[in-house]
Amino acid sequence: MATGKGATRLGYTPVVPELPEVEVTRRRLSPMLVGRVIERVETTKDSYFFLTKPEALKRRLTGRSVRELKRIGKYLLAELDDGDRLLLHLGMTGQLFSSAVSSVRLFSAKSRGSLPAEALRQFKADAHTHLSLHFADGGPSVLFRDVRKFGKVALIRAGSEDPRLDKLGVDALAADGHTLFSAARARKIPIKSLLLDQSVIAGIGNIYADEALFLAKVRPTRSARRVSERHCEAIVLASQRVMKRSIATGGSSISDYVNPDGSDGGYQNERKVYARKGLPCLVCKTPIRRVVIATRSTHYCPECQV
Ligand SMILES: [Zn+2]
Repeated sequence: MATGKGATRLGYTPVVPELPEVEVTRRRLSPMLVGRVIERVETTKDSYFFLTKPEALKRRLTGRSVRELKRIGKYLLAELDDGDRLLLHLGMTGQLFSSAVSSVRLFSAKSRGSLPAEALRQFKADAHTHLSLHFADGGPSVLFRDVRKFGKVALIRAGSEDPRLDKLGVDALAADGHTLFSAARARKIPIKSLLLDQSVIAGIGNIYADEALFLAKVRPTRSARRVSERHCEAIVLASQRVMKRSIATGGSSISDYVNPDGSDGGYQNERKVYARKGLPCLVCKTPIRRVVIATRSTHYCPECQV
């Protein structure tokens, strides 16, 4: 996602963790969380990062253990042994990982140069580490770090709902062509906008929407109501294909994202249109075009996609 102000301040264009990164996080974080008793909780001071106040988080999480770590769209949900659920959202720059990591992405160039090699193998909570879970078994902690604080953490009491989850449509990996087609029929908005609407299909983000539309040969600007059921099916299947491929390779290697074990993803080398403006289409050699749809950077081949 390119946002003018943020891009200027950071010196690069931030890209949001999408479903595959969140699913990779879920799979790798699960064994670091499930079954371990939380002994102590550390937080930074209260801010918009905390949908549940830090004091309440500390009180309710201490002594609990995580039964299961689930994912709905781009949200992670840790189900606790008392029935409460801890909702975690990576936002744009959120990083969820074990304290026993060695990812260069967690250390500034300056500290990489000055710290001894041992120090780089163990990350110590810093001013951007908003939530630290320490466990009774004395093993590695689980840390939630977010430089820009667009990530979120909330505790949902047993039996209660959450408006963020209620608004979500079918999870992208469980959706089918009909999910998209029934939402598309009466809509005059571009098909790309509909794909990004989380209340229809939850979890398709900007990169995967562009890639899926390319594979399905549908131009992102086409009016949703002019997309046939067959094409809707092709788009959903293509989105699932690229997301599953991305999960299998460990998520995209995007600016701030780190896997919970500190490793980098590898999907970015397989992108066919996203961030390839002006480069030749891999099918027909026509230069890839970039347009903006609903403030989102959008890439397509004007020849292959109609
Ligand atoms: Zn082409």
